[in-house]
Amino acid sequence: MRAVIIDTPGTIRVGSVPDPTPGPEELVIKVGACGICGTDLHIADGEFPPTPYPIIPGHEFAGEVVAVGTRVPEMMGETFTIGTRVAVDPSLFCGHCAFCHVGKGNLCENWNAIGDTVNGAFAEYVAVPAANAYPIPERVSYREAALIEPVSCAVHGIHRLQPSLGDSMLIVGAGTMGLLLLQLALRGGASRVAVLDLNTERLALAKRLGAYQTANNLIDILALEPSGFDCVIDATGVPPAIESALQAVKRGGKFMIFGVAPSEARVALSPFRIYNDEITIVGSMAVLHSYQQAVDLVSRGAIDTSVMLTEAFPLEDFSKALDRVRRGEGLKTQILPNGEL
Ligand SMILES: [Zn+2]
Ligand SMILES: [Zn+2]
Repeated sequence: MRAVIIDTPGTIRVGSVPDPTPGPEELVIKVGACGICGTDLHIADGEFPPTPYPIIPGHEFAGEVVAVGTRVPEMMGETFTIGTRVAVDPSLFCGHCAFCHVGKGNLCENWNAIGDTVNGAFAEYVAVPAANAYPIPERVSYREAALIEPVSCAVHGIHRLQPSLGDSMLIVGAGTMGLLLLQLALRGGASRVAVLDLNTERLALAKRLGAYQTANNLIDILALEPSGFDCVIDATGVPPAIESALQAVKRGGKFMIFGVAPSEARVALSPFRIYNDEITIVGSMAVLHSYQQAVDLVSRGAIDTSVMLTEAFPLEDFSKALDRVRRGEGLKTQILPNGEL
């Protein structure tokens, strides 16, 4: 089959590799669509420590079952047969470490993920554990279904933040994740959500998705909410943006770090303010008990996917697509390794 292969950081090619075969508890998926995200840039550049090389990347995907492992029917009955349409949770938790034992698999000491540490879906076919596959209804396209993984990250974020009904909210960063968090926040009971970004096209999309106020600077945002917001989410991972976003948290409010900053980055915070204003700071990392919810939100139309899905490229144009993501063009760029399925 054809696949994107990153031989070493910075060396990316589209080449031929043997077709995957399913292990006893696995499925082989013919990939319908696979999204590119910031993690793929880090993997391409050698900045994602868990990744071994060579690797086939791609962790946001959906497709059609074309082979079923020998033990899958006895494990799961008729759930998966040839032709079943599925989206796949890429998380591979060990199940036996201290974190897995308390239900925090996303913090697993032996964390792995399809497309991050084992071969993924920027390929015509990919083998996955059957337990990670979720059937999707006919009405959901593969392009929409490939958005379920980022939605599940945003669902976990909202679970971590636990906003109260009626809260005011500010989201800093109107990329794919910021706009998904915006939709979930409005769905989850925020009375109003403001969005801050430097990109005016993205702010227009935020408006279209229901943001009551958008701006490219904090002063304009705070003009309408002088005492700040009940909940502030950073979806940029950019240290200066994080420092200024903290100023927008209301007394007694919450601040969530959702964007991925470089591991060596540091920000200056006022401990006095966190103490005196009783500010809660939370982090949110990837997917935990949130994939089925994301399947339901996308397949029931609770997420506007049309705004999020911008360009799609064939496998052979992977490098071109990756450069587009690197330049911040479009929103969710996807690869269709088998054309339009
Ligand atoms: Zn991703
Ligand atoms: Zn574990």
